[in-house]
Amino acid sequence: MQSPDKSVLELKGVGEKVAEKLATIGINGINDVLFHLPSSYTDQSVVDLNQADNGANITVEGTVKTEPQIAFFRKGKSRLTFFMDANGIYVKVTFFNQPYLKKNIVNGEFIRLYGKFNRHRLEINGQKLIYDASGGMYVKYPLAGVMQSKTFQKIVSSAFEVATFNIDIAEDLRAKYKLMPIKDALYEMHFPSSQESTDLARRTIKFFELYKYQLMIMEKRQLERIRSERFIVDYDIQRLKGFIDTLPFELTNDQKMSVNDICRDLKQNISMHRLLQGDVGSGKTIVAGICVYAVKTIGEQSAVMVPTEVLANQHYQSFLDTFKDRLVIEKLTGSTKPKEKREILERLKNGEIDLIVGTHALFEDDVVFNKLSFTIIDEQHRFGVKQRQRLNDKAYRKNVLYMTATPIPRTLSITTYGDMDVSLIKEMPAGRIPIETSWRRFNEIDDVLNSVKAEVDKGHSAYIVAPLIEESETLDLKNVYEIYSVFEEKFGDDEVILVHGRMKAEEKNAAMAAFESLEKPILVSTTVIEVGINVPNATSIVIFNAERFGLSTLHQLRGRVGRSDKKSYCVLVSDAATDNAKLRMEIMTSTTDGFLLSERDLEMRGPGDFFGVRQSGLPQFKVADITEDYRILEVARLEAIERYEKKSLK
Ligand code: ADP
Ligand code: MG
Repeated sequence: MQSPDKSVLELKGVGEKVAEKLATIGINGINDVLFHLPSSYTDQSVVDLNQADNGANITVEGTVKTEPQIAFFRKGKSRLTFFMDANGIYVKVTFFNQPYLKKNIVNGEFIRLYGKFNRHRLEINGQKLIYDASGGMYVKYPLAGVMQSKTFQKIVSSAFEVATFNIDIAEDLRAKYKLMPIKDALYEMHFPSSQESTDLARRTIKFFELYKYQLMIMEKRQLERIRSERFIVDYDIQRLKGFIDTLPFELTNDQKMSVNDICRDLKQNISMHRLLQGDVGSGKTIVAGICVYAVKTIGEQSAVMVPTEVLANQHYQSFLDTFKDRLVIEKLTGSTKPKEKREILERLKNGEIDLIVGTHALFEDDVVFNKLSFTIIDEQHRFGVKQRQRLNDKAYRKNVLYMTATPIPRTLSITTYGDMDVSLIKEMPAGRIPIETSWRRFNEIDDVLNSVKAEVDKGHSAYIVAPLIEESETLDLKNVYEIYSVFEEKFGDDEVILVHGRMKAEEKNAAMAAFESLEKPILVSTTVIEVGINVPNATSIVIFNAERFGLSTLHQLRGRVGRSDKKSYCVLVSDAATDNAKLRMEIMTSTTDGFLLSERDLEMRGPGDFFGVRQSGLPQFKVADITEDYRILEVARLEAIERYEKKSLK
């Protein structure tokens, strides 16, 4: 392991041609060679047949006792047999289709071979002869057929000659965790001496990878925390307390702690870079709102960035409700009329607006603030780093709060958001009744319709989630139109409204408005409702073809209901065919804990798929697996933090 890395062309036996082959499997530098580890190990230590298990693949040695015999069959098939004396046991050895071995098997001579042992018949089904006397472990590399493992191992050999190993785990850490020097660990992985040493080597490399990564995160963290007296928001605590007292409910403990975290950041001379994580309905918006008010007490501005127009409308409305006329709030989106937009921009520049809620429209150059001192980015994973940066560049005091309603398993939270401070809201506001979830088959549709009817008859609203139009032709899914007509037939078109991804923005907004104003109680839609809509009157959600979704998405969808003091229901409609789908349905019906679900989701899908898309910036490790190696990850993180803090004290 060296920094900087060198090209594989510097290695013995690697010319342009071989280098090209290696490049096709992602190996360009010497470090790549060193870290391209075997995918399997075969133990070739010679075993005593007396100890060997029936059916085991083993290496044995002994003396050939008979002339080898060959029988040839059709299609070039053949069988080679002979007897050998392995430490006093007389066994019959058979090699299929390797007639050329005959010349190496000489009656009376010593031989070593690898094969499958049949204890009952005292036979060995030979796989190969072993010529070198090294014994021990035999490695196989994942090389996608570009070369033989043996050839690659030679390249590895010369990599060890050329590499300098100027990066390593500090000696005290190695001693503390009983790790090997990185050079020895890598060598052991490529040229294994025993199972135990290889295990230790693997543990060392995992630690190394995770620790390096954590140090890098700490570095990044330091870069993003800019220090300046200017970032201090010296808000009026008395006025803020007065405002909190006017809220119609008591904050939960987690909400209080989150408010404290954020307010503490505001008072510090370091730019805020905090993630507020909380399940749907846990009350993140009010937490953010309180902090917006804190900024208002010094007469400065806040901005809320959301990924969609629907969310913008909704946040705008809920901030209006929260603040009444205590704050001047405006909304800016792609569909704001030019004249209105000019006015808003003017007032934003003058400082007449305290809080602006907007979509990507906020990034644009003509958006200028008087003093933007607090920026909130909702569903932050839906924005690119550059986009977020563009808004932050407009800030007078750089304090950014990111919000996410996706509960993230702790392992992923450490690896993906390790550079942020994190506040968690785990507890739900008091008085919430857990959502009752059930799983139905398609042929139980009448039950489903009746249960929706029971709720609608009480004056409550219902979400019906139907498969995307695009998908319906290729996958045998119930089309959104088909589902719509089933509900229309039952309830009449006065009650049901349809929203799907192919509608124009105005149409969609009008439809959503009809649902939100309770004019229409039943909304049939594709997953456009997934992000953040809030209609507390809704008490049921039916998800058709629920097996299409991962646990996290199902949980997000379910979170659309249960937003009031009324009991709510979630019905998953699915003919779940696979075990995995069944398991998901069962997990969904057994828990409403978003954090628990996210852990399960991670286990089932693996870290790569967890966020659905690759844009999550999840690190790729060669040996470490963040779900499996969680404990090493934790330790590496704590050590990295400690090391980093020591260093920055100097
Ligand atoms: P989130 O944004 O986390 O999904 P919201 O902020 O939209 O959640 O809150 C959901 C609902 O709960 C809102 O109607 C909000 O007014 C209400 N709420 C928030 N905090 C509390 C609380 N501590 N007690 C009672 N209701 C609350
Ligand atoms: Mg600050």
